[in-house]
Amino acid sequence: MFLYNRINKEELKKQLMAETFNRKTISFYRYHYIDNPGEIRDQLYREWFPLECFGRIYVAREGINAQMSVPEHNMEAFLKTLTKFDLLKDIPIKYAIEDDGKSFYKLTIKVRPKIVADGLDERTFDVTNVGNHLSALEFHELAGKDDTIIVDMRNFYESEIGHFEGAICPEADTFREEIEMVVEQLQDKKDEKILLYCTGGIRCEKASAYLRHFGFNDVNQLHGGILEYARQIKTENLPSRFVGKNFVFDERLGESVDGQIISHCHQCGKPCDTHTNCANNACHLLFIQCPECAAQYDGCCSDECRDEKHDPDKNTGARKKEYQFGNRKRNRVSLGLKKKLESEQIEQETVSE
Ligand SMILES: [Zn+2]
Ligand SMILES: [Zn+2]
Repeated sequence: MFLYNRINKEELKKQLMAETFNRKTISFYRYHYIDNPGEIRDQLYREWFPLECFGRIYVAREGINAQMSVPEHNMEAFLKTLTKFDLLKDIPIKYAIEDDGKSFYKLTIKVRPKIVADGLDERTFDVTNVGNHLSALEFHELAGKDDTIIVDMRNFYESEIGHFEGAICPEADTFREEIEMVVEQLQDKKDEKILLYCTGGIRCEKASAYLRHFGFNDVNQLHGGILEYARQIKTENLPSRFVGKNFVFDERLGESVDGQIISHCHQCGKPCDTHTNCANNACHLLFIQCPECAAQYDGCCSDECRDEKHDPDKNTGARKKEYQFGNRKRNRVSLGLKKKLESEQIEQETVSE
């Protein structure tokens, strides 16, 4: 048995579409010291590959972070494999709310220096000194109060399409940048009740410890993240304080929480919350594009990219260099567009479920 995927992407996608069974999209993470990430990685691959599990899993000395799709008929067997690892015993699992089961098309398990690329130096602060964990319902309650400060710990391309009402959403492109902006922005709020949230809770583990290190006294974090919040408010039939779409890191790129569209197409400015990667492989910029613009630009982010896509000779590689920090650049543009829209008072259409 090979411990790596050896089939090309198109073939894998075709196979996924031809499947006659259903899949469930799940995610889980845990900070837990591992001595031998490489060995654990291979063991996990041996366990999960035969069960036709797909996903993207990072294993590091500090723990595990997994986004996966598991065939429904193998779910029980999959859960049983978790009991074989200290690392995974009784690990809380989050189930996707808007799920067509087509979130991943192969199994990728990688050994990484960290389970989230957070850019922080753990030697400079106490990572175990985390904030107070709030259940989804506790968070919901507190988020509705005036004397709390809600902070979105995700990147701007994520909060742009959905966030908690009234949340601070820094225009950051990396976690590192984000957390530094938050510390600076909240300098004079060190005694106020701060509510942090992210997609599944993992980024808040580091963020809360970092804020406490910088003297914030009342740091709280949403346990299980937006994923768990969305599930809970559905179960409890509560009105969502999260508006828009939750960005997720798989083929779906997002799941709607309350059916509203709060962002705009980066090309024409009309309400849209569908992320796509530029179809010019030399560019691959992540941006928001409506179906009409997708047709007009042939899935590309610009006329230049559309031309390049059809004439690879034109592709000098210059574009890739220019767009190395593409998300950053483009988001600034989209933010500018947003402000322009606001100033022109173009009413934002909303779509209800
Ligand atoms: Zn458009
Ligand atoms: Zn492009």
